Amino acid sequence: MNVLLIIVALWLLGVMAVFCWKNKLFRQTWREPYFADTPVLIESDDWGPGGVVDAERLAQLLACLESHHDTGKRTAVITADVVLSVPDVEKIIADPDFTYQRKTLDEAAPDIYKVMLAGIKSGAFVPQLHGLEHLNGQAFARLCQQNDPRIADAIADPYGWNWESLASPLQGHYVDGSQLPTQAISLAQAQAIIALATQTFQRLFGYPSVSTVAPCYLWNSVIESVWQQHAIQMIQTAGYRCDGRNEHSHYHQDKPLIRVGDLSNSGQIYLVRNVMYEPVDGRNTPDTAYLEALSAYAQALPVSISTHRYNYTRSEQDFQCSLDGLDQLLTQIRSTLPDVRFVSSPELGAQMLAADSVMINHFNGELWPPLKQLTGIKKIAPFLNRLHARHPKLTLLAGVTGLIVPAWLICRQSRQKLVQGSR
Ligand SMILES: [Zn+2]
Repeated sequence: MNVLLIIVALWLLGVMAVFCWKNKLFRQTWREPYFADTPVLIESDDWGPGGVVDAERLAQLLACLESHHDTGKRTAVITADVVLSVPDVEKIIADPDFTYQRKTLDEAAPDIYKVMLAGIKSGAFVPQLHGLEHLNGQAFARLCQQNDPRIADAIADPYGWNWESLASPLQGHYVDGSQLPTQAISLAQAQAIIALATQTFQRLFGYPSVSTVAPCYLWNSVIESVWQQHAIQMIQTAGYRCDGRNEHSHYHQDKPLIRVGDLSNSGQIYLVRNVMYEPVDGRNTPDTAYLEALSAYAQALPVSISTHRYNYTRSEQDFQCSLDGLDQLLTQIRSTLPDVRFVSSPELGAQMLAADSVMINHFNGELWPPLKQLTGIKKIAPFLNRLHARHPKLTLLAGVTGLIVPAWLICRQSRQKLVQGSR
């Protein structure tokens, strides 16, 4: 009997030690947002001026989204991260000082802009600021002046201006990547381009962009402070922030880990993409994306699908494959996950800033009920799932201490809810 008591006492001491050791992590994880509904977001970077097929491809993509509806009969919606302009190369070269000059989306690609406006009206398209352009204007003008071969392909593209033809370091917007390591732009440069970007965005789409994602995921806290001055309240991320690239062109992370709901130094909410659907890269498929969606659901996180424009604007075969896969992914999500709610990133951010408020698509005036969030003991199963998904060593420790048994029983209840929801 005494031996048994000693074993129990030691076990309790071990459990208490784990709780004391990881107390801060547990409290941080518990304070994160947890959703009772299943918010589903489709985040797609790089829409803007482009090739001759882009308008037609975007129209087909939006038609696919319009065929999917959530539990509240809302159509699937793409949060399209829009590049607002491209270089006006002829004017730059004709300028005696090689000053950077641009063509905005409506001038450079009126057909694409028209499809975007139609998508806004139907509810399948919500624009979000990606950047005034997808390059560094001053560096680009200097390379024009120097007749640098690194920009030759982009300038020569007969199908329209395509920054994707530039070497990757030259595609950053808030850094100068013409030489490595990259150099962050100055505060004055940031203020000038972000002021013009926010004005242009509002002129093109009738409402300000309250959320954004930086081209190439390259930005720093100075950029965040300028975004904040221009009422940008949410920052879309891939779970980290990079402030530059080193002499070997490797990305440098100055915030290696961002969780959804974390705050920037300027008070903005970070959003995090957690489902990768980039089939043209050959790294993920509808099936792998679906598994990531299931994991997000088990953690009561928004299902935030990343799928860039290039998946839909290259060859006809690539396009059909990407579109069919997205259709399949959305069908699987809708048929197996309960309470699916299609939302855009600025709407999700607004719900996190003011829970229980009516959700508004400010671009077309549609109103939707608030997203339901989990509170109290209902958060326990997704809380445990977050710890399990993120911290393998903690899972091992839970196994050694036996804590895995009650945790497994709680999470099993959660899985039963998933099965019931799929019926
Ligand atoms: Zn981009």
